[in-house]
Amino acid sequence: SRGHTVLIVGGGAAGISVAASLHKRDRSLDIAIIEPSSTHHYQPGWTMVGGGIFRTEQTNKPMSDVMPEFVTWYQQSVQSVNPEENQVEMADGTRITYRFLVLAPGLELHWEGIDGLKEALGQNGVTSNYREGLARYTWENVQKLKSGRALFSQPPMPIKCAGAPQKAMYLSSDYWLRHDVLKDINVEFHNAGGVLFGVPAYVPALEDYIRKYGINVNVQSNLVAVNGPAQKATFRQTDADGNTEDREVGFDMLHTVPPQRAPEFIRASSLANEGGWLDVADDTLQHKRFDNVFGAGDVNGTGNAKTAAAVRKQVPVVAENLISALRGQPLQAAYLGYGSCPLTVENGRIVLAEFGYGGQLQPSFPKWLNDGTKATRAAWWLKAKQLPGLYWHGMLKGHEWLAKPAPRQ
Ligand code: FAD
Repeated sequence: SRGHTVLIVGGGAAGISVAASLHKRDRSLDIAIIEPSSTHHYQPGWTMVGGGIFRTEQTNKPMSDVMPEFVTWYQQSVQSVNPEENQVEMADGTRITYRFLVLAPGLELHWEGIDGLKEALGQNGVTSNYREGLARYTWENVQKLKSGRALFSQPPMPIKCAGAPQKAMYLSSDYWLRHDVLKDINVEFHNAGGVLFGVPAYVPALEDYIRKYGINVNVQSNLVAVNGPAQKATFRQTDADGNTEDREVGFDMLHTVPPQRAPEFIRASSLANEGGWLDVADDTLQHKRFDNVFGAGDVNGTGNAKTAAAVRKQVPVVAENLISALRGQPLQAAYLGYGSCPLTVENGRIVLAEFGYGGQLQPSFPKWLNDGTKATRAAWWLKAKQLPGLYWHGMLKGHEWLAKPAPRQ
């Protein structure tokens, strides 16, 4: 079987960036990436596609363009991982061994977790910014809708970019308000969770927009079934005593977000925690039982917000600690749980939520430059004009912009 010093599973935001950051530190490292896809997606751009601000093409690049020339690329998917044998198996049965393994396969969108959703998507006003190609369909529906009911759903946590379900709702409502049709559209938010946003500091700014758009907010209301042709959605409502009741709601447009879980080969392995996610240490991102395994990105069972912004801060931590481990030195870099969620509350303004473990605020900018708890134009400019370039030309190339790891305590 073939072997590599460092084997990375997944060539998404985390996998490519870790490879670049490792290479920056040690140009002689033998690195391989296993990644099946021919296209690399900049998923944070999909919210903007759904709001008519970006085109789909701006969010994609051929994988061959972002795959660093110094790595060996296996264009396949991993079927199973055997950390006891330092080995992974790919879909065609080939086995690859490693000295160090970095797991960065992202998470799995579990569309089948909602009855009828998979068949319903892309027709009859049923859409989701979580799927490439459908974000464009969101925007088409937003422009078409002049009256009726628009539903926006949010599944149970954890999900990637927890703010994205409501970002779609605010951008849509803003368009309807500007086109003077919002008064004839009944906008409803159905959240499986109990609060609008998990970090209280950002809630007042969001509530201002809920009022401005006249949105009807339903909490503990989980989308469980969709009937596309009949344009009906079923929500399971849980009351304070835990009793549930199913309610059917008709719609003209439905923006859904699927429940999410770790990829199957992680869930099925000895690397998973109880919830099925990769069981790495919160600070070092090293696996709790296998010292030569690290995790980066959405697959990690750490309590941070699953975002590309989190990846940006995790990558140098993984790179530094992996190289220390390789050299037999103690791990010194720590990740403090940073994640960020730019909440697009209207076209032109964003509430830039930035926080770490336990919901502790970690703003990147001083308050006079940008107050993260308010909707600001500066944060919109950052998201719409700066972040895509920083992603493609900064993070994916191993430039660790504002991402110096904290020393380990
Ligand atoms: P991904 O980027 O998803 O990459 C995973 C890679 O692994 C993929 O290329 C996949 O093909 C590959 N893979 C999967 N399974 C296997 C396998 N078995 N074998 C080999 N390879 C495999 N983040 C922000 O910071 N800000 C935002 O505003 C924001 N908005 C978002 C809006 C939407 C609609 C969505 C969907 C996401 C958003 N995110 C945002 C989240 C962000 O995109 C993710 O957190 C980020 O992409 C995670 O990086 P990752 O490398 O862990 O996973």
